[in-house]
Amino acid sequence: MSKKPKIYIIDVTNRDGVQTSRICLSKLEKTMINLHLNELGVFQSEFGFPVTKHETNYLNANLELVEMGALKPIRLGGWLRAIPKDVEDAFKAVPKLKHVNLSISTSDQIIVHKFQGKLDHKSVINEMISGVKRAKSLGAESIGVNAEDASRTRLEYLVEFGQAAKEAGAARIRYCDTLGYDSPSSIYERISKLADAVKIDIELHCHNDLGMVVANSIMGAKAVNDAGFNAYINTCVNGMGERAGNADLVSVILAIKYGSGLAGEYQLDEKIDLKKAWKLCKYASYAFGVPIPINQPGIGANAFAHESGIHADGALKDRRNYELYDFEELGRGDPEIIETGRQITAGEYSGIKGFRNVYENLEVEFKDDKEAAKVLELVRYANVHNQKPLTKEELRFVAKHPDIAKKIFTMTP
Ligand SMILES: [Zn+2]
Repeated sequence: MSKKPKIYIIDVTNRDGVQTSRICLSKLEKTMINLHLNELGVFQSEFGFPVTKHETNYLNANLELVEMGALKPIRLGGWLRAIPKDVEDAFKAVPKLKHVNLSISTSDQIIVHKFQGKLDHKSVINEMISGVKRAKSLGAESIGVNAEDASRTRLEYLVEFGQAAKEAGAARIRYCDTLGYDSPSSIYERISKLADAVKIDIELHCHNDLGMVVANSIMGAKAVNDAGFNAYINTCVNGMGERAGNADLVSVILAIKYGSGLAGEYQLDEKIDLKKAWKLCKYASYAFGVPIPINQPGIGANAFAHESGIHADGALKDRRNYELYDFEELGRGDPEIIETGRQITAGEYSGIKGFRNVYENLEVEFKDDKEAAKVLELVRYANVHNQKPLTKEELRFVAKHPDIAKKIFTMTP
């Protein structure tokens, strides 16, 4: 290997994040998150489920944003079951799909106790191979193959599965610690063996059921890099994700950049720009309706707060006394301005006068009354769609891309 392998981020907020019980995102919110992730320099956003009917218009509209250059250079990847029928349905519904991850379970537990005879170890691999080949023939440019429950999969079988995926044309395999069962040492050891045997780039998809998600993701990525291959860590904004969540996007980036034995030794995708983190995390918190804990790394209200005498004195003398990284690096430090006087807001039942006032305050101008009326109508729909006040950036998005917005709001059950 002449080139030093790197660590890339594949964010799965719009897939695992929205799969989380009790919380959801509107299609407009998912779109805004894709735009934010692009600004932050994330390699790929797993943007949704191409065979799920209510996602179709959103997915197609976001791929139009890619074509227009509004979502660039980020890749948008769809999540599918590794079944040829799903692959066909996906490309039928979302013809411009270019990047996919095909998922199937590989552990004895799931194969025996969930598939219950429908699939055995051999047919799991065969299904996956035909899924990969079908996706290739339908125009997929990059394919990741997900081994669900990989951490509880017999290693020999995982290697066999990985080799078959590679031969079929997969670019990466995704090692899923679906239950959050791994520990930093177990994942390092298993991934080292897997990467050595299969010789392929590997994604780390970890869960936080035992509170080790970031450490596991990092140690897994380290093992992939140490074996000479690129690692792709799956993250979620604010650590959302099923049950106890996935690896928090910001924590993962901070750990690679500042962790002992990692900083300077391992190469994070240089497109990553943490300055966009604050805005993204605040937006995602608002969109999900889930507050950011005050002790969340980098982003929490207390991440740069010092009170005890010794620490406050030290931090004031030299920030490096008690801070590993600067708040400015995360895009923090600007005061937030909150309107305390009269406010005209835009909602489901807004009229043209108030609506124009809202956009004047955003310094957005319309060509003529016709255009203003069109955007007003869309903003009403956007409010029905989101069921909460629109943010300034959402209002700007609707005015800038009215036709895309219209597609995103369109749903025909
Ligand atoms: Zn997951």
